[in-house]
Amino acid sequence: MEDKRHLLKQPLHGIYIPILLILGGTLIFGVEYLPYSIAFIVIVCSTQIFLALKRASSMHKTKWQDFELIDKTIIAPMTSIYRFKLARDDEVLDIPTGHHLACCFTINGKDEVRYYSPISNQFDAGFFDILVKHYEKGVVTRRLAQLAEGQTVKFRGPVGNLDYQPNMAKELGLIAGGSGITPILQVITSIITNPDDHTKISLLFANETEKDILLRAEIDEIASRYPDLKVQYTVTRPTDSWKGSVGYVNKEMIEKFMPENNGANRIFICGPPEMKKSLAKITEELGWQKDSLFLF
Ligand SMILES: Cc1cc2nc3c(=O)[nH]c(=O)nc-3n(C[C@H](O)[C@H](O)[C@H](O)COP(=O)(O)OP(=O)(O)OC[C@H]3O[C@@H](n4cnc5c(N)ncnc54)[C@H](O)[C@@H]3O)c2cc1C
Repeated sequence: MEDKRHLLKQPLHGIYIPILLILGGTLIFGVEYLPYSIAFIVIVCSTQIFLALKRASSMHKTKWQDFELIDKTIIAPMTSIYRFKLARDDEVLDIPTGHHLACCFTINGKDEVRYYSPISNQFDAGFFDILVKHYEKGVVTRRLAQLAEGQTVKFRGPVGNLDYQPNMAKELGLIAGGSGITPILQVITSIITNPDDHTKISLLFANETEKDILLRAEIDEIASRYPDLKVQYTVTRPTDSWKGSVGYVNKEMIEKFMPENNGANRIFICGPPEMKKSLAKITEELGWQKDSLFLF
């Protein structure tokens, strides 16, 4: 998707070329037309700058901006989707795949910054959604839970290090833990909505209980439509009827459900810090090279 934030830095598209053509024409037809040419150049430049400003993103990379909460939906125990309004009804939050937003609450004079990966996609205009898992003692998630519609929250972004390129892997293994599914879902959405991206995907999604599996219906629905997406769930506290894997993600699960470690395939991991630490060690033991792995 075009990065509209840089439009003003790329005047070649609509400013330099028309100006050169007008000045060239003036030289050919006579300098007496110069005042008309200058007037025309002013109109062209003003129009281009106006259009660029109109299309510019209301989310700023470094400057905090206030966004109004317009909807809040509880989707699972302790988990909600928060919808924030963008400046324009036709604006789409165009952030790179796997990147996230920084969210800031000033609490007792201290800025508390946490990161959230939008789950809305390039077809959602006028708003963006974040899915948030709440923690009883969570500094920021408790404040988010107390928000009423109409109140605002500070965000900036995009932030992130993943440089996802279509077909950068033949097969992509995705391992998510809990709310770590959010950036992983962005990667999946990016692949399945790009007809030129032929990456095969294997998702291994770990949770405590079956009830904690966030967005399960959506994931299963996508998997039923895209044969190139395989999904395996694992829970640490299964019920008697549970048919998925049991326990934390371990070496056996990676060998069984992740793509072959052959240099052409990659693994992306997102979850709580302890999970990432453990999986970094396991994947290293399994011979995965650092450049084939990405830890969010
Ligand atoms: C790149 C990135 C993207 C993220 N995207 C999302 C997202 O889309 N949705 C989302 O809900 N969260 C996401 N997170 C986590 C989020 O940034 C916060 O860390 C989380 O919301 C907790 O913030 P808090 O201030 O409420 O908790 P804190 O006050 O920071 O922590 C309080 C207590 O909560 C518990 N806790 C906090 N975080 C976790 C965790 N991840 N796993 C287990 N226990 C935890 C711990 O017991 C901790 O001691 C992301 C984090 C990163 C780094």
